[in-house]
Order: sequence, then structure tokens, then C-alpha cells
Amino acid sequence: MPKALDKVWSECLDIIKDIVEWQHFKTWFEPIRAVELKGNVLVIQVPSQFFYEYLEEHYVNLLAKTLRRVLGKDAQLEYRIMVDSGNHQNKPLTMDVPAQGYKTFSNNEMDFPLVINNPVKNPFVIPGLKKMQIDPQLNPIYTFETFIEGDCNRVARRAGKTVAEKPGANSFNPLVIYGGVGLGKTHLAQAIGNEVKRSQASKVVLYVSSEKFINQFVDHSRNNAINDFIHFYQLIDVLIIDDVQFFNRAEKSQDAFFAIFNHLHQSGKQLILTSDKAPKDMEGVQERLLSRFRWGLSADVLIPDYDTRIEILERKMKNDGLDMPKEVVKYLAYNINSNVRELEGALISLLAQSSLNRRDIDLELAKRVLRNFVKTSSKEITIEVIQKMVCDYFDISYDKLLQKTRKREIVQARQITMFLAKAFTKNSLKTIGEHFGGRDHTTVIHSCQTVKDLMDTDHSFRENVIELQQKVQLVAM
Ligand code: ADP
Ligand code: MG
Repeated sequence: MPKALDKVWSECLDIIKDIVEWQHFKTWFEPIRAVELKGNVLVIQVPSQFFYEYLEEHYVNLLAKTLRRVLGKDAQLEYRIMVDSGNHQNKPLTMDVPAQGYKTFSNNEMDFPLVINNPVKNPFVIPGLKKMQIDPQLNPIYTFETFIEGDCNRVARRAGKTVAEKPGANSFNPLVIYGGVGLGKTHLAQAIGNEVKRSQASKVVLYVSSEKFINQFVDHSRNNAINDFIHFYQLIDVLIIDDVQFFNRAEKSQDAFFAIFNHLHQSGKQLILTSDKAPKDMEGVQERLLSRFRWGLSADVLIPDYDTRIEILERKMKNDGLDMPKEVVKYLAYNINSNVRELEGALISLLAQSSLNRRDIDLELAKRVLRNFVKTSSKEITIEVIQKMVCDYFDISYDKLLQKTRKREIVQARQITMFLAKAFTKNSLKTIGEHFGGRDHTTVIHSCQTVKDLMDTDHSFRENVIELQQKVQLVAM
């Protein structure tokens, strides 16, 4: 009996959930409705054209593979795109389109990292395998052009460029790129691979995660085929191994890697490794390997500063042909300072929300999305915070702000502070007055009115207030 629609889709979601990051799952898969199963064609309803395009661009392979697993190898995917959600008089307007990217997706037998679960006894010995046939396993979107340089990654990026120009023939061998999660290690390592492939197509490049390497090794040791495994790796000109910290639990794999490393290094081949820690701090990795890691260059990637975060966001938007107000870009860059992956995740969620709700991206929406997105302590804006911001802005001391004086700059700064306190906090006028040396609520009302009047008449005053408003907005969630 054929599986029921709901069951098919829930099985698909179970698989996808394990693969896709949680936030992306929520953003891109939860809103999907499975609406029809016509034989081996599953129809999924997506909320908008944008949504459909995004899935096609980023997830069609995953959807295809998953569907084949659940429904069999002839499974097909079709989208039902919501064109208009309708109302009580009109039915929703939808449009059905077959998955496009799906057609070009092939089950490539040469896909080495996929062969791990393959029953073929020894996938590395494929008769007539030529070096050129080795798929580098690179993601083409990870290039130097899309990798923004900042103080946070300058050394690593420049070393990467040098390595890409002269793989093997430079003093950065191996190149070890290390740093925390989501800071661009994989991107940079793959950019090197992509650049080598672009400029020196005959070079054999291979990107592999250390986990895959270990799994392959284990598979081959079971089949008494360790030599084939090692020989395969010795064919590579540029070997990129991602996240080598995971070698720490795999003693035997380290032995194999040691042999491969020595062979490649002696033959003038390039090694590029990434890790979450500097070689000197890696635990559980054999000393003889660590000492070799130190032969070349270890370069770290750090959290990008605010300006670099802005640049990363703007570049991403440009690449994807997107636009949103500068204040929103600033807001994201200001509030997400953990790592670049989170920054991208927030941008994607924001786009999805804007597409789901059919509304333009503005600060309001950004705030809403971010509230659910990052675990940022939702910063309560207090009168004290505003006072401090205004003092910093006009470069006056806190004491001065509260002083009884007729000096115009001070009086105006105080009035602006009260105005902002009223706008951005939930405090009563009385409480606000108390924070300014015990002034009463009528003073606060008068100050707010004065600020409004001045904003209408004095251009530079208005500029100052607006800029301060933006600053406070950035801090407020
Ligand atoms: P890591 O491997 O260090 O955990 P990734 O290389 O996977 O991090 O990077 C996470 C995401 O952030 C990727 O989508 C990557 O393209 C992006 N990214 C990281 N650093 C930069 C950068 N300097 N410029 C542009 N994108 C970046
Ligand atoms: Mg990585």
C-alpha cells in the first residue's frame, strides 16, 4: 500500500531535521505544507515565489535525496507556490511547478565522501580511475571574492591567497586555519581549493572533513584495504582537511594521516587544515602530527568587528540581489556579534519573514525576527543607559548633565535625554524627572515639547536627535 501523504512528509522532515541547522529548518522547512501525493510525485506548498527560489537554490539536492530515500528512486518533487493567499470570497491562487534543480541533480558514483555507506567493497580502487576524475568536493560559492577581509582574518586570508597561487611551493605548508565556529574556516579553506581549480585546472584538489576521512579509514580497515585508502590520498595535489580537532578520538586514522601527510609534503603537495584550536592547544592529537602542523603557518580567524560585519552583510545582499534599509543592516551587525554564520542566519530569517508576511524589511520586522533568533539578552533600555549615551555623544560628564545651569548645550542635552527616555523607556514622567536631580514631571513635559519644537526649526539640532535616536534604537530590542 502506498504511504500516506502525511507520513511521507513527516519522514522527510525527520531526516532533514537532522541535517539542517535548527534555525534554517524552522525558517525554510516548517512553513512548507505537503499537499498532494500523485503516485511518485510529492507536491509541497510554499508561501511565495521567493521561498520557492530559495529552496531551489539551496535545498533542492537535500529535498531530492530525502524524497528518494522515503519514496523510492523515482520520486519527484513539485512545488505549489502561493501567488495570492485569497480571502473569504476568493480561493487562494497557486501555481504548480516541478522542481528544476532536481533534474540536474545526479547520484554521482564518483562522489567519494558519499561512498562510505556504499556496499562497494573498495571504492577507492576503481578501474581506470584517473586523477582528473576525482571530484574535489568543493562548494563553488566559497570563493575569495565572497570572503570579506578584515582585521579578524587578514593574515589567514592573505596566506590562503599565496597558497592558492603556488600550492605546495610556498612556506605555508601546511596552512592551518584555526578559530571558533562560524568564523569562516571552511569558507576560506574551500576558497583556496576553488581558486586552485580555477587557475590550475589540472591540479587534483580534494576537500574532506576529518570525520569523513575517519569514516573512510574505518571502512577500509574493515576491508583490509588501508593501502588503497592511503594510495588514493597520495594522488592529491591539494588536500584540504576540515576540522582536524576531531582526529583526537581516532588514533589509527592519525597513523594513516601521518603517512599521507609525509608523502604529500615530501612530494611538494599542499596541505590545508582547519581546526577549532591552534596546534599547540590541540588535545589528543599525536605529537608527531602536531609538530608537522607547525612546520607551515598557523593563522587564526577571529570575530569580525562591526564594520566588517556590515561589509559582510552588504556583500551577501549584493550577491543575492537583495536590498534593505541601511538602518536594518546596522541593526543586525550591531546586535549579532557572535559569529558570521549567525549573522547570515539572521539575514535569511529576516528575508523569509518578509516574504512570508509580504511586508518590506524594516527595523520593526528586524527587531521581531532577532528577538526569536539570537539568545541576545533582550536589552532593557534604561534611563541610565540613555543618559550615558547622550553624555558620550555630546562629550559631557554625567554630573554636568544633572547640574543646574543655563548653559545652552547642557540644557539641550538634558532635554534630549528626557525626550529619549520618554520615547524609549516605560518610565513615568515622574520617574524620569527624578533621574535628573529630582526635577518634577512638568519639567519633563516641557523638555519633550521643546525638543519637538526645536527639531522642526533647527536643522543641526534635528540631525543630532535623529542620530541619537538611532543609536538608542540599536541598543533597544
Ligand atoms: P567555520 O568553518 O569557521 O565554522 P564557515 O566557513 O562555515 O565557518 O562560515 C560560516 C558562514 O559565514 C559561511 O556561510 C561563510 O560563507 C560565512 N563567512 C564567514 N566569514 C566570512 C567572511 N569573512 N566574509 C564573508 N562570509 C563569511
Ligand atoms: Mg567549518
